[in-house]
Amino acid sequence: MKKPYLADPKEARRVLGAHDTQARKKYGQNFLIDESVLMGIVDAADLSRDDFVVEIGPGIGTLTQYLSVAAGHVCAVEIDAKLLPVLEETLSGFGNVRVIHADILKTDLMALAQEENGGRPFKVCANLPYYITTPILMELLKSRAPITQMTVMVQKEVADRMLAGPGNKEYGALTLAVQYYTEPKMNFIVHPHSFLPQPGVDSAVVTLKLREEPPFPVKDENMLFDLIRASFNQRRKKLTNGIVNFAKFDFTKEEAEAALASCGMKADIRGEALSLVEFGRLADALADLR
Ligand code: SAM
Repeated sequence: MKKPYLADPKEARRVLGAHDTQARKKYGQNFLIDESVLMGIVDAADLSRDDFVVEIGPGIGTLTQYLSVAAGHVCAVEIDAKLLPVLEETLSGFGNVRVIHADILKTDLMALAQEENGGRPFKVCANLPYYITTPILMELLKSRAPITQMTVMVQKEVADRMLAGPGNKEYGALTLAVQYYTEPKMNFIVHPHSFLPQPGVDSAVVTLKLREEPPFPVKDENMLFDLIRASFNQRRKKLTNGIVNFAKFDFTKEEAEAALASCGMKADIRGEALSLVEFGRLADALADLR
């Protein structure tokens, strides 16, 4: 198998030039050109030859080359048709990689895992496109596909949201979904000069280890996530108002207050003050009212 060579900015520029293309903003294309970052990502992903890895957005194939060397089998899902001939060139000689031309948000990951890996558990690794980071993460978390671990590069600010605690300004729906489904870990910060072109913000590599079991039992997971959405839709307002005004709910103010009281919470509490466990208890109290 060939050795990865695209971390060299000259190579990355040459490949783009040879295919008469360039990084496209509309797809959030910032290509990695820093070997130490690429090796750091692969290290954080904890890969072995037994692993099947799904990469989201291979771009020109830089991270893909490193994944190919470290893992058993790689499937890379790329939305941009213009990059397909580039990937054909850069991934030739990396025989364990399959490129799929698709939008990850429209990809059936269960079917992909079944087809490519006999339905066995797999890992996700990606330098995510920043314009749709949250929808991609939410989709993956809720997919029920047998993912064991995701190692993702995101904007530093998004990493802060994943790891935030109650009362913190970064604390929100993404925090709670990530912490409900996974154990998140910050690995390292990446500066703009590690990319071509440079993004306007710092980035961070985060590992999300999927939990085998939810952190606590809830009566109705949909209720939990609806309650979280209701709370952060109007994050500056009282939680009772968020519950009463949320279109999917039909609880009265009295019911919302009774549910809060049954959990020992004050009637004027704001959602951002609740921990994940407290959201779980309140979701159960609301589920009992249905
Ligand atoms: N992995 C490459 C690297 O690290 O150099 C490229 C990362 S770049 C930040 C994000 C990649 O995701 C781009 O290749 C972009 O075209 C791709 N992408 C954007 N939206 C996508 C989507 N909905 N589905 C699949 N790939 C997408």
